[in-house]
Amino acid sequence: MGHPPPPPRKNPWARKKPRAPKPPAKKQAVENPRDKRDFSCPNCGADLRFDPAVSMMKCTHCEAEVEVPHVDDAAAHEEVGLRDRLASGVKMETVEIASLNCSTCGASVEFDPDEHSRLCPFCDSAIVADVTMQRSIVPQGLLPFAIEEKEAHAHMGDWLHARWFAPNGIRHNAASESFNGVYVPTWTYDAYTATAYTGKRGRRVRSGKTTTMRWTRVSGAVTGSFDDILVSGSQSVSVEFKDALAPWPLHALETYQTEFLAGFRAENHTIDLEEGYAESQIFMRAKIRDWIKADIGGDAQIITSADTRFSDETFKHVLLPVWITHYTLGNRRYRMSINGQTGKVFGQRPFSNLKLAAGALAGFLALALLGGMLSASFGPDMRPYQNIRLSP
Ligand SMILES: [Zn+2]
Ligand SMILES: [Zn+2]
Repeated sequence: MGHPPPPPRKNPWARKKPRAPKPPAKKQAVENPRDKRDFSCPNCGADLRFDPAVSMMKCTHCEAEVEVPHVDDAAAHEEVGLRDRLASGVKMETVEIASLNCSTCGASVEFDPDEHSRLCPFCDSAIVADVTMQRSIVPQGLLPFAIEEKEAHAHMGDWLHARWFAPNGIRHNAASESFNGVYVPTWTYDAYTATAYTGKRGRRVRSGKTTTMRWTRVSGAVTGSFDDILVSGSQSVSVEFKDALAPWPLHALETYQTEFLAGFRAENHTIDLEEGYAESQIFMRAKIRDWIKADIGGDAQIITSADTRFSDETFKHVLLPVWITHYTLGNRRYRMSINGQTGKVFGQRPFSNLKLAAGALAGFLALALLGGMLSASFGPDMRPYQNIRLSP
């Protein structure tokens, strides 16, 4: 078949080959252009890599620049009917890719014979595994890297510099960490929803010095639509995906071409279309509850039943660019991921209870001074989905 042969298994961790000019590459017959991963320089035959700085492929040896052939980006934005796809049982187009599976975090990453590190880009643990051929869905589109590794380093330095827990010198140490440019498989879902609900509306009634809540039964319907609800196609960076690295400028999606992948690695999906849809529905149902509460109005709301009909569901399967690295603090490693398009940083960080309490107290005092607020939250990059509440 036209697949490139799997890389040699003997020593997958061999150091980077010296960049000596290779003889001009033979014209390889490529059956499916979506399989093609290696591109050679028309000048000298050395490897071409996609360079985010110029949005072109660049020769690793002579620095010649080669344009990525322009393809209409309509395919990248095409919404595919979800019901039809699930009902018809039509399999999505897949491609076999030489991959490494991490037994620690479960990530499955494209194997790069030039990669000098034996560490999993996602969890930083050593991968002790053979290269296997993995079937991966061919995405319809991708968001190319727009931030180069150098910039990712700068963003990382700034992030650490601004953090209270980061000791002096960590910025210097972090400068020596190398980044992995990984394309993360992602599902996007759209849906129209109609929800019939029943519930209770509460109104505060004051009589003299006491206030009581008076409840009335209500029922009604809310409708709405969702556009591009993102669900990570893998578990490896799903936490970052939800809020921390968003927004993703999906209007800039390009039709999938392997030229964009040259020099980067694509992660294989481990969450399929249906599982991803179920996850997006959890998000949608939470949103719908907000709509219902707004519809009920009053001073308090109780939802007793909500019957939601989803329709016109569509999806896309795309790749999103993430720079991933780890930094050391104390004797632990923490992951840092950076949105490869926007440069937005999300770093894992240490949690010392004492420091956390001190920080929370300081935050509380500041807020108390400002407006007498009784709760303090450290914002999304502190600890996702968890607010720290203090009572006086
Ligand atoms: Zn060259
Ligand atoms: Zn891992």
